[in-house]
Amino acid sequence: MTAAPASLVDSFGRQITYLRVSVTDRCDLRCRYCMPAKMRFLPRDAVMSIDEIAAITDAFVDRGVRRIRLTGGEPLVRGGITDLAARIGGRIGHGLDELTLTTNGTHLAVHAQALVAAGVRRINVSLDTLDADRFRHITRTGDLDQVLGGIDAAGRAGLKIKINMVALRDLNHDEIEPMMRWCADRSHDLTLIETMPMGGIEEDRTDHYLPLDRVRADLEARWTLLPLAERTGGPARYYRVAELGSRVGFITPLTDNFCAGCNRVRLTASGELYMCLGRDAKVDLRQAWREGGRDALDAALDRAMATKPKAHDFSIRAAGQAPAITRHMSVTGG
Ligand code: SAM
Repeated sequence: MTAAPASLVDSFGRQITYLRVSVTDRCDLRCRYCMPAKMRFLPRDAVMSIDEIAAITDAFVDRGVRRIRLTGGEPLVRGGITDLAARIGGRIGHGLDELTLTTNGTHLAVHAQALVAAGVRRINVSLDTLDADRFRHITRTGDLDQVLGGIDAAGRAGLKIKINMVALRDLNHDEIEPMMRWCADRSHDLTLIETMPMGGIEEDRTDHYLPLDRVRADLEARWTLLPLAERTGGPARYYRVAELGSRVGFITPLTDNFCAGCNRVRLTASGELYMCLGRDAKVDLRQAWREGGRDALDAALDRAMATKPKAHDFSIRAAGQAPAITRHMSVTGG
């Protein structure tokens, strides 16, 4: 009998149990805080095939990863996405506990049922505003009704939905409370996210940066926020809003560093494994897989573990200064 492959533990003793996979860096929206209007995407031949992604995710599950999230770019614009979801979903109960997805919702009406059939039970939908004009402004190209229709379809298909809202000063911060009520009415959890200094955009990030410790303090003056111990595998800290009976989470990479409990790594669409969202250390898994199959992949994973940094290196920088991380969020996914 051959020994089970060793689990993935970094040099700080953190066990890696959560993999996020960016299945494409392409997106049908152009959110202003995420990417420039004329974003340059990877050439298609640089993107892994569905077979390659499935083989690499399989190796991660064999090495102890229990939760996989598909993201992007926009995962639902990737050809073959539901086939990939079904293949990864086949590992649920065989090493994998959960397969989830983060989406902008534009293609949910088409794919919701196939995702459920693949074994997906929860999804995150990014929605920064409920105002159609603001939605068009923030996303540059988006149609709010299409996304709301997608969210409804996902709910009808039986998916549990969490809304992700990036909190942006002067763009949507007056909508945080309406969004809390909207989510509570529909039994969706809500997570608020701080803008992270990733990749060049046209605007100065400091103009719209909204520290979530301030937002939480403002909310606590008006609502009863009861801290919850439960986590969903990611970095969000959750509170029950007593008056609404709903949950609201905060992802605060800048105001409250959450690296000590990090259990995550991120695979890009071109097969590079980033050990930290806020650092540049990476290992090329596609090359390892192509050159040496599973043995080389396992060796590359062991090398990667040794390079996982202790903490990220985010700081919001002013106009004219390079962002802390030059890679855009769409490369490694949210
Ligand atoms: N297209 C999918 C979506 O919209 O959810 C998945 C990828 S998107 C990059 C994942 C999440 O990252 C979204 O919630 C988006 O709002 C968020 N995001 C993008 N750029 C960000 C940034 N610089 N800081 C914080 N969040 C960001």
